[in-house]
Amino acid sequence: MGFSLATTEIAETIQIGGLTVTTCSVPTDGPESDGTLTWNCTTIVLVEIEAGGQYGLGYTYASEATATYIVKELQKHVVGKNIFHIPAIIAGLKAGIRNQGMSGIAMMAISAIDIALWDLKAKIFGQPLFRLLGARSEGMPLYGSGGFTNYSTEQLQGQLASWEEKGMKAVKMKIGREPKKDPERVKVARTALCSKTDLYVDANGAYNVKEALSMAEKFAGQQVTWFEEPVSSDNLEGLRYLRDRAPASIQIAAGEYGYIPQYFQHMIFPRAIDVLQADATRCGGISGFLDIGTTCATLEIPFSSHCAPLAHLHAALALPEFYIAEYFHDHTRIEKIFFESAATIEKGYMFPDEQSPGLGIELKHKDIEKYKLR
Ligand SMILES: [Mg+2]
Repeated sequence: MGFSLATTEIAETIQIGGLTVTTCSVPTDGPESDGTLTWNCTTIVLVEIEAGGQYGLGYTYASEATATYIVKELQKHVVGKNIFHIPAIIAGLKAGIRNQGMSGIAMMAISAIDIALWDLKAKIFGQPLFRLLGARSEGMPLYGSGGFTNYSTEQLQGQLASWEEKGMKAVKMKIGREPKKDPERVKVARTALCSKTDLYVDANGAYNVKEALSMAEKFAGQQVTWFEEPVSSDNLEGLRYLRDRAPASIQIAAGEYGYIPQYFQHMIFPRAIDVLQADATRCGGISGFLDIGTTCATLEIPFSSHCAPLAHLHAALALPEFYIAEYFHDHTRIEKIFFESAATIEKGYMFPDEQSPGLGIELKHKDIEKYKLR
């Protein structure tokens, strides 16, 4: 028994044949820092899953240990399962990680697997993933993101202006490394932008609550409309305090470190944020991202994706409401090196290629050789 899709007969069961994991480390194009971290390379863990002669690709930006965890603990919950039953596979994986904790490496591993499963399923149907999921929108709105705290004035202004030239309606810079200098850095960044472009700031939890409130008041005069992680995103009372008292033109945003639905609930229900962020490469892949995005739509909370733009594109188009996606400097650079993709950017929106099945990305196996850790 089977059913037909156009001219193709598709079986009811297609068993997953194999899973391979590759880890790469990619040097940044210069030193980078934000309010609470400095780095000079980015590690990406890639998962390829085979079924029915097709390969699905998923990835997460996580420690090399994630790859070991997938191979040693998670692979057995995937290989041999029916690719059409993704919820069952994910339920098995989540049950399997119980004793490790439903966060961090274990959930990033599941996220990469989930993304590969959805890519694979759509490829088996010969359709772009947005069409398999059902699309609400044609393009995903983007904001440019980088503006690292170690950048010179010229670097900062040049980078932010380059995204404005691509038509992005907002750009984001990092703050919090030297709080006393932040009002001036924000002012300098503002002068590189035209008045219709919104300026977002991200402190990565570097300020205390009173400091953050004082900054919000100063930033409001520079058309800053988004203040991300002004304090630690675990300080929900602090976030709520700021949301209640910061100028109304500034939205408080957080959520990038969320792994499970309950984390986001704890952020949403005390109304600690104006904009909820989630990262599909952490929060359970396409499945987890759609769950959280749908909850946000129901509750009328603006929902935004964190990093990894190509991983979010199709899911963002399928959501009933989607606010804006982060076009993060490091990850857009890596995605260009690693993936063949015909997705396009026009007037600040990213559009998928309608002819490319799945996520529309193919791994450039030869080009990544030099970055491989394992
Ligand atoms: Mg952030």
